[in-house]
Amino acid sequence: MKNISIWQDTVNDSGKYDALKENIEVDILIIGGGITGCSTFYQFKNDNIKVALVEKNRLGSGASSRSSAKITFLQEDIYTRLNNTFGRDKAYLYYRSQKEALKIVSDIVESEKIDCDFKTSKSYLYTLDSSNIKKIEQERNIVSSFKEKTTSIKKLPNGMRIESGFYVNDTYIFHPLKFIKEIVKKSISLNHRVYENTKIIKIEKEKDYFKCYTEKNIIKTKKIVLALHYPYFLMPYLMPFKCYLEKSFLICSSVKNSYDFNAINIEKPLKSIRYYNDYLLTVSSSANLAFASNSRKMVDDLEKNTNITNYDYVWSNYDLMTLDHLPLIGYIDDNLILSTGYNTWGNSNGILASTIIKDLINNKYNIYKELFDPRRAFNKQKLINYPINIFSNLYSFIDSKINKNKVFYNGNPRFTKINGKSVAIYKDNKGKEHIIYNKCPHLGCSLVFNEIEKTWDCQCHGSRFDLDGKCIMGPSNYDIGYK
Ligand SMILES: Cc1cc2nc3c(=O)[nH]c(=O)nc-3n(C[C@H](O)[C@H](O)[C@H](O)COP(=O)(O)OP(=O)(O)OC[C@H]3O[C@@H](n4cnc5c(N)ncnc54)[C@H](O)[C@@H]3O)c2cc1C
Repeated sequence: MKNISIWQDTVNDSGKYDALKENIEVDILIIGGGITGCSTFYQFKNDNIKVALVEKNRLGSGASSRSSAKITFLQEDIYTRLNNTFGRDKAYLYYRSQKEALKIVSDIVESEKIDCDFKTSKSYLYTLDSSNIKKIEQERNIVSSFKEKTTSIKKLPNGMRIESGFYVNDTYIFHPLKFIKEIVKKSISLNHRVYENTKIIKIEKEKDYFKCYTEKNIIKTKKIVLALHYPYFLMPYLMPFKCYLEKSFLICSSVKNSYDFNAINIEKPLKSIRYYNDYLLTVSSSANLAFASNSRKMVDDLEKNTNITNYDYVWSNYDLMTLDHLPLIGYIDDNLILSTGYNTWGNSNGILASTIIKDLINNKYNIYKELFDPRRAFNKQKLINYPINIFSNLYSFIDSKINKNKVFYNGNPRFTKINGKSVAIYKDNKGKEHIIYNKCPHLGCSLVFNEIEKTWDCQCHGSRFDLDGKCIMGPSNYDIGYK
């Protein structure tokens, strides 16, 4: 069984980019090479300006290579939630934005002839719980009121029985890593450069430009696009109080019959599915990161929820959830644009963001500017979720300080002190001990061992480290050393 995503395992790994080795000056610096950063880079490909895209690991190594890779506007009960919080007009505007995203991606795939297993797929929303039939009807009514054709169903095309559900046409599935790598390849030129293994560790604002520091060089830029999923800095934007991370596990199991539809249920436990070649991809078992330390238990729950115990791939993914269900796309300061908070729908929203960002930078009107403005005011939903979010943030932070050496598995790994410092030790199956300090470099939270993927994970803000402390995901800008 592999503990990387099926996308990471089935992409051609050629087309690596060198790290930055000199000081440079650009008009726009895009930080983060996921679906957002790469789509934004693509949007500027024909513009006569200097653009640099920097990625701290490899392109697509973050959340974008670990999703279920649907591109759909049917996103659980999003329209009911938006309707309740903001009213019908804003719910419709969000629907319109997602439809636009679908058009943008299909146009790119067609015009650039991108080979990324892109397929039209019907999206299904269903419930397995009779008490949720009303919720399904509510969502269907709203979607239908947008003049979208919806069709009611009693079972999924693979024969799975449900209590109630409906589907919409003309949504998509794809291979996210192939898409990302291809659009970047199509956008590179002398003035449009990509640097992998290049992380921005500090940003300084000068009068009318920024100085962005990598470990060895400086990038001078007029504008910055923060496409780095979870912005690593706290002040002055207080990201952890505006959003929280949700962690989920995904599995891929081989199947005899494959289908082109994708489906998601409206309740927890989640059972979101799609097929890729001869595999069934299932997402289940998701939780606020503060309560998702025990990866083994999450996967046990997933197996129980899905009745699948035999699978070929298992991996986790994190996404940033906002308090009012809407993404954060727009200026957070002069010449500083943020795009994140996609509430697990970052393929459509990341691609859409690239066009909003382009309009913002070009001072062009964009109809979605206000809807997604990261500086938008408090609303009903934010007010309800704000205290819960503060509680879960504080809970994970304090818990990580008090319960320093959380062990869910017997024997391996173990925690101890060496020279007065807390260390975490993992003994691999060749008997080699891997020792790292038990402290996340981001904000000093202690680590928990993820037995499924054999990584050390920070339960506060989602940074993840390999057995030797190299940061492979998340907001930490540093590896964990051990000297
Ligand atoms: C279980 C699960 C299933 C999902 N399924 C779907 C789906 O079916 N459809 C859908 O639309 N969405 C889905 N999503 C959501 C989607 O995966 C994410 O919203 C999306 O990939 C986020 O893209 P991004 O570009 O913002 O972030 P990322 O892909 O994480 O990219 C950010 C990049 O920034 C880099 N970076 C960070 N800090 C720095 C720095 N200091 N310097 C340089 N680089 C840096 C990171 O290494 C990373 O590569 C799912 C999410 C989860 C959790």
